[in-house]
Amino acid sequence: MSHLLPTYARVDLAFERGEGAWLVATDGTRYLDFTGGVAVNALGHAHPALVAALREQADKVWHVSNLFRIPEAERLAARLCDVTFADLVFFCNSGAEALEGAIKLTRKYHAANGQPERYRIITFEGAFHGRTLATLAAGGQKKYLDGFGPPVDGFDQVPFADLDAVKAAIGPQTAGILVEAVQGEGGVRSMPPATLRALRELCDTHGLLLAFDEVQTGLGRTGSLFAHQRAGVTPDVMGIAKALGGGFPVGAFLATAEAAKGMTAGTHGSTFGGNPLAMAIGNAVLDVMLAPGFLEEVERKALLLKQRLAEIKDRHPTIIREVRGEGLLLGLACVVPNDRMVAALRDEKMLAVGAGDNVVRLLPPLVIGEAEIADAIERIDRAATRLAQESAASSQSTPKLEGIKG
Ligand SMILES: *Cc1c(COP(=O)(O)O)cnc(C)c1O
Repeated sequence: MSHLLPTYARVDLAFERGEGAWLVATDGTRYLDFTGGVAVNALGHAHPALVAALREQADKVWHVSNLFRIPEAERLAARLCDVTFADLVFFCNSGAEALEGAIKLTRKYHAANGQPERYRIITFEGAFHGRTLATLAAGGQKKYLDGFGPPVDGFDQVPFADLDAVKAAIGPQTAGILVEAVQGEGGVRSMPPATLRALRELCDTHGLLLAFDEVQTGLGRTGSLFAHQRAGVTPDVMGIAKALGGGFPVGAFLATAEAAKGMTAGTHGSTFGGNPLAMAIGNAVLDVMLAPGFLEEVERKALLLKQRLAEIKDRHPTIIREVRGEGLLLGLACVVPNDRMVAALRDEKMLAVGAGDNVVRLLPPLVIGEAEIADAIERIDRAATRLAQESAASSQSTPKLEGIKG
């Protein structure tokens, strides 16, 4: 038996090696990996630049704590600010921590302005911001909150993309709005760019901070470095994580100097955050992603994949009802239960991950090649064909119930 706390419904598969878009199981079987460690392995497995950066830093120093300056962290922060709206960065170790930090900063901003009563944050149904008590309260999903005591106070949830509901929810205690440009866990649901722009205007009108959760969408996943850039919207604060370390645990929240004005010495901290090892890898990830043409290539391949997926959807309307998403954060909204589709893909030696709204998420590495896209399409086609055959067979063998009921 396993001594791991049974909080995950794990698939009985283990891997010993990864190469780019491929994972090699302990029995030697090769799997085409479209889970990417849930949007983490943006540069695929064992990317030579990341392996080299890790090896090189491992020989120098791993961890020194934040009692001292960390040049690798200063460099990564400066580079992130260079390519975003932000002036300041705090490094942590996960997405949930990044969002906790963004939430704390949003509250502290108003306290620093002499309005500590403004602490409430508006969030959207279907959101996912992490598994700590505050981020769970922000996400507002009952199934995750159940049994864990009173949810952290200070979050007002409104229906997805409902601007009137947002306006109605703004009150004298409101501190900010927290949004995902594309809800990943929530089912690859894109917030319309016009809605994001309207949120920005509402924040400006009411003196609120606009916080983006780009933990899943950030670092090239949508074909832009950050998803909010596609909508032409500027956040005040943003949480990132997943792809930032390419598989090494690291997160961060970024903010303008104005938004961060309450975050003075002693107001926040992390023992591991910004350690030299994580920072060396984060810098190596940026080296690859900021190279000229990288994001254009992501866009080009994303378009190719999306077009081919649309063809599959047209061929299998009883299995797939919609292809959605931005860049290489793509979703197949299914007619059959999404876990059946994930299992059928696994039978074809392809790995994908479910999401809300009965969606199968496809999260290939951003460095995926055209041949691998063609390969993936064949596997998805075969999986859908087999599911369609199974459905046809079972509907033939099931007696017609209508007559019996009457
Ligand atoms: C994964 C995710 C998180 C939580 O990240 P962890 O590293 O698991 O804590 C938060 N927000 C979004 C949008 C995510 O996709």
